[in-house]
Amino acid sequence: MARSISVLGATGSIGASTLDLIRRNRNDWRVVALTANGDAEGLARLAREFGAEVAVVADEGALPALREALDGTSIHAAAGSAALIEAASRGADITVAAIVGCAGLAPTMAAIERGGVIALANKEALVSAGDVMTAAVARHGATLLPVDSEHNAIFQCLAGNSLEHVQAITLTASGGPFRDWTLEQLQRATPAEAVKHPNWSMGAKISVDSATMMNKGLEFIEAFHLFPVGVERLRIIVHPQSIVHSMVEYRDGSTLAQLGPSDMRVPIASALAWPERMDTPCAPLDLAAIGQLTFRTPDEIRFPATRLARNAVIEGGAAPATMNAANEIAVAAFLDGQIAFTRIVQSVEDVLSRSAMPAPTCLDDVIAIDAEARARARELMEPVR
Ligand code: NAD
Ligand code: MG
Repeated sequence: MARSISVLGATGSIGASTLDLIRRNRNDWRVVALTANGDAEGLARLAREFGAEVAVVADEGALPALREALDGTSIHAAAGSAALIEAASRGADITVAAIVGCAGLAPTMAAIERGGVIALANKEALVSAGDVMTAAVARHGATLLPVDSEHNAIFQCLAGNSLEHVQAITLTASGGPFRDWTLEQLQRATPAEAVKHPNWSMGAKISVDSATMMNKGLEFIEAFHLFPVGVERLRIIVHPQSIVHSMVEYRDGSTLAQLGPSDMRVPIASALAWPERMDTPCAPLDLAAIGQLTFRTPDEIRFPATRLARNAVIEGGAAPATMNAANEIAVAAFLDGQIAFTRIVQSVEDVLSRSAMPAPTCLDDVIAIDAEARARARELMEPVR
């Protein structure tokens, strides 16, 4: 029987990779809800192609265009945050959380509250909500399947093993497009240079995060919640080829790694088919052609984001949500040409050092911390000199 699926953030990079897999296995899936931010035409095209039950734009201003584009179909068109939450709570067999940023938190929590299976790409939601989200997962009997390639790799390497036997978990990092740049060069890095990732093709925000290494910082916190082995057992290693997607070292001396092409359809397929496997069109690895896999220690002088993230998760409370929110504002300001590349992580550190919000105990607390940190970060955004 066909399984049902909803894709939150259907028009993005992860959304497109997910729907590509669905398209190739059309008879195995029934599409329930597809959502986007404001791209009504793009969303309507997908909703028509996949015969979705409902299409939702977050931006209410885009509703008339969505209605028009869906005219003559039986697809329900809706808009706004309540509609997004309603779409996420439709109880699809699997919900792909692929909205970018903390904007995806409330819909992801809504899917969790339905006790469903959530394929989580939206790392910012887990970083911000942390224990609030993991407690909800436990309370509602939901299942979080990591889509982020590193976490999906770790999930695969852990299969069937207890965390008790884990000595360390190592997240690999490509190092991003500026891996070998000097601090002086980083100062002058442009948005166009930052979004040109050497190995992966991704949305603009995560591409900038990858360039600052904040992506690895967010992933460190994501791993802390998904695989609770303790901060001291979580490591980061730079691996420029992005072939080894992460590793789990066991106390008996075995290290398991997952390898694969730099194509998000691999981890997405692993989550969609879990606990089974499904075919993908991705070319198999040709290790002889790749020749060498290299590894090195991250440089936290040029790329301080991972240090910030480690400290934020150790501090706990409001720090991770604050860090994430400040970073979202700073990345947007950088993409907008308002601040220099190196100001992104500096301003996140500034916001973190000034924040004094209490630890969140529910979704509303997380949203309040996020709003407060955004306001503080906005005050810091000054033009590039
Ligand atoms: P993207 O920018 O390509 O797509 C984002 C999606 O979210 C789009 O559908 C957009 O319409 C929607 N969206 C944006 N703002 C929204 C808002 N305010 N309200 C509702 N919807 C909104 O991003 P992406 O690269 O697909 O990344 C999505 C998530 O997956 C991010 O959290 C990212 O960190 C994570 N992720 C992405 C990749 C990748 O290869 N692209 C890899 C690992 C993890
Ligand atoms: Mg990743």
